[in-house]
Amino acid sequence: MRKLSIAIIDLVAKAPTRSYWGRVMYANFASIMPQVIARWSEEQGHKVTLVCYTGREDLSKVLPDRVDMVFISTFTEAAQLSYALSNMFRSKGAVTVIGGPHARCYPQDAQKYFDYVLGFTDKELILDVLRDCAQHRPEGMCLSAGHHPTELPGVSERWKFIEQTLRKAPFIKIVPLIGSLGCPYTCGFCIDSSVPYQPLGLERMKEDLRFLLSKVGRPRIAWHDPNFGVRFDECIDAIEEVVPPDRIDFIAETTLSLLSEPRLKRLKKNGFKALLPGIESWYGLGNKSKTGKKMGMDKVNQISQHVNMILRYVPYVQTNLILGLDVDYGQEPFTLTKRFLDLSPGVFPAYSLLSAFGQAAPLNLELQRANRVLPFPFHFLNNNQAMNVRPQNYSWPEFYDHLIDVTKYSFSKKMIFRRFNATRGAIPRWLNVVRAISSEGFGRIRYFTEVRRRLDTDRKFRRFFEQETTEIPQFYVQRVRDELGPFWEWLPKGALHHDPNAYLMSQQERPFPITRT
Ligand code: SF4
Repeated sequence: MRKLSIAIIDLVAKAPTRSYWGRVMYANFASIMPQVIARWSEEQGHKVTLVCYTGREDLSKVLPDRVDMVFISTFTEAAQLSYALSNMFRSKGAVTVIGGPHARCYPQDAQKYFDYVLGFTDKELILDVLRDCAQHRPEGMCLSAGHHPTELPGVSERWKFIEQTLRKAPFIKIVPLIGSLGCPYTCGFCIDSSVPYQPLGLERMKEDLRFLLSKVGRPRIAWHDPNFGVRFDECIDAIEEVVPPDRIDFIAETTLSLLSEPRLKRLKKNGFKALLPGIESWYGLGNKSKTGKKMGMDKVNQISQHVNMILRYVPYVQTNLILGLDVDYGQEPFTLTKRFLDLSPGVFPAYSLLSAFGQAAPLNLELQRANRVLPFPFHFLNNNQAMNVRPQNYSWPEFYDHLIDVTKYSFSKKMIFRRFNATRGAIPRWLNVVRAISSEGFGRIRYFTEVRRRLDTDRKFRRFFEQETTEIPQFYVQRVRDELGPFWEWLPKGALHHDPNAYLMSQQERPFPITRT
């Protein structure tokens, strides 16, 4: 095989930024797969340069002048940046490849701008792409391994890439690990709901933990499992076997149904410092919160007691809720959220606006069939800057009124103060304050208020929301232009637009993608 010069770009920022939050935290959001691809490529003798792009790097300085192939891993919110980068590297003769959640959600769109679009990616598939290394234009080649890989290179094999990324994080340094892929639950909106649960090897997990203890004084680890702890006892047994009690700080996303009190005791003993359970709705998805058929205030009371119990063992708890679900109607869901905060002031509430990411989830097909998906530019599809699903039971102004009201309540001075007092430990307390007063709290209140104002005053803006036109409002175009800065000129013509029903069309037209089993 010809020896290639390869660039791998892990986009954790969607545009250049000097934000303080980005400076402190973005390097901690690095993905695992770009490091894995770097490792597999190096094994074949290729020359690899990996960059975790946090919005501060000058890519012309950190990457070689000429590369044969560029891999870009991205979430949908950074898709427009990735398209601009692909265009820029293609102009210098490189072959470009996109992977990560955006490629899985919007392959039909991504193939207009990349030579290869990767779905599930394993080693064989990467080796095929490296061997082929050819231009596929105007339509890129969509490839998928059919399922996730069954094993991944361990931390020791990825260490040089992890270390170079962590150097960018000035204070808090978090190492990404993964113990499982997919999820046994079936939440209709989630990209992992249709991916079978697949544990990775426990021996590899133990090796990784031992290695980290030998390299870092007190490691901080974020588990990237979609739902950590499905195999609770095996995972915690493995941790206890190799890690002395409370020698590593762990962060994990998990479902409430897995968090019984005896398990929380074990988590505390083993250094779990932050948990991010999903509540999602006061009216549905009771299986994952172990609230069964309970709804409304009954569910609020039960979850509140559960979360307060978690806070006795784990200092930082973020609860995730989705706003705008079809089960929601009127003011009550928002009022229930406020009551929940009153009863559980120690949690940090994270809100997501109902979003349909292309072909991420089976539910999206129904939404597209019902013509409820709006073509907001990808740049805004991060669960909060745009809700690309027309709500079933609210007009847009009504929905934004409720949204602004609940966000203001959540990040009011009174609530910030109560949250501070109800949280233990300096880092969790101040992290909550910083998140509330930065773009996540105050920033969103300002942003939602501006959207709400325009719904009343900007006719073209409102027509887009009402699906009377697909012309993207100037407000959004200008924001992308301003935020992309120097990359705007590389954004290919038409790349702000996408077909919101491409998934539905692909089902009718042809099977997709080429799947190797
Ligand atoms: S429990 Fe979490 S990871 Fe699993 S399907 Fe539901 S939302 Fe997705």
